[in-house]
Amino acid sequence: MTKMNHSTLRVVLTSLFLALSITLHAQKIKKSDYQQAVDNAYEKYKTLKEGKNADYIKELANVDPDIYGIAIVTADGKVYSAGDLDTRVSIQSISKVFTLAKVIEEQGPKEVFDKIGVDATGMPFNSIIAIEMNEGKEINPLVNPGAIAATSMISGVDSAAKWQNILQTHNDFAGTELNVNMPVYISEANDNLRNQAIAHLLKAYNRMYFDPVQATDIYTKQCALNVNAEELATMAATLANGGKNPITGKTVVSPRTTTFTLSVMATAGLYDDSGQWLFGVGLPGKSGVGGGIIAVSPGEFGIAVVSPPLNEVGNSVKAQLAIYDIIRELDAHPYRIDPKN
Ligand code: GLN
Repeated sequence: MTKMNHSTLRVVLTSLFLALSITLHAQKIKKSDYQQAVDNAYEKYKTLKEGKNADYIKELANVDPDIYGIAIVTADGKVYSAGDLDTRVSIQSISKVFTLAKVIEEQGPKEVFDKIGVDATGMPFNSIIAIEMNEGKEINPLVNPGAIAATSMISGVDSAAKWQNILQTHNDFAGTELNVNMPVYISEANDNLRNQAIAHLLKAYNRMYFDPVQATDIYTKQCALNVNAEELATMAATLANGGKNPITGKTVVSPRTTTFTLSVMATAGLYDDSGQWLFGVGLPGKSGVGGGIIAVSPGEFGIAVVSPPLNEVGNSVKAQLAIYDIIRELDAHPYRIDPKN
């Protein structure tokens, strides 16, 4: 009987302890931690002047370089923010993620794997040429050739239907109706000979799945969608929540699609600096030349920072620093592991 009591007690204590540690783990990041981390990063980098607005799209040079907004949206829909959430910038390359997610949803990961590719360079691991000719040779849905190919694969009977599909997808991820920044769209559409060349070259290799001129135009429009940090963070949080928007409750893509999308983000989300990004932050991310960066902590939260001045590879200087600090402060690097006893 006594023995029985002892073991019962042990079971009870063990389950209590387990329940407690599960609760503690679930509450590892507290509400106050999120807001504190966001505020700290905002204050720390508010006056930093490094970097330069993109100017190869002429209209981007005119954007106020002091715009600086940070937002975290958790997988259960809580929002923490600091700084400028009123001014919007064009989403640019961050849109590649959401068009890709829709293509995976519509056609499955194998089609994307076969028709575009998901390698960072598209070259063998020991290729010397890839080192020298990295730029432009990457076939991955998050760099321009792969992204224009993904746009060309989106379903829709004609150009207008494809655009509607892309716009609706972005709206669903953001949980609001987004608008095209017309000056940015027109400025880039008149000047994007390089992207048009990419689309035609892909066509020549049978790797373009719609008219190259129209596909480039739709792609340019998707890149000109206007967003603020909170809208971007909601888009990231939808991925963090397995494809279901935590604010609106709408399922935008499946958990399976989300898994593949996040994996591609980890390979090339910050272009040539994707390795450095993963090394420091550990989370799949995506940058755009409009000055935004998103990162996704699967099952936990999406984070976004908007600040237009970029470094030489086209990633926002402040956004990288702010996200890096916040992830460290929240202890959210997924590869930081406490060894078991
Ligand atoms: N629209 C831009 C382009 O195609 C997007 C680039 C970017 O954000 N890195 O050049």
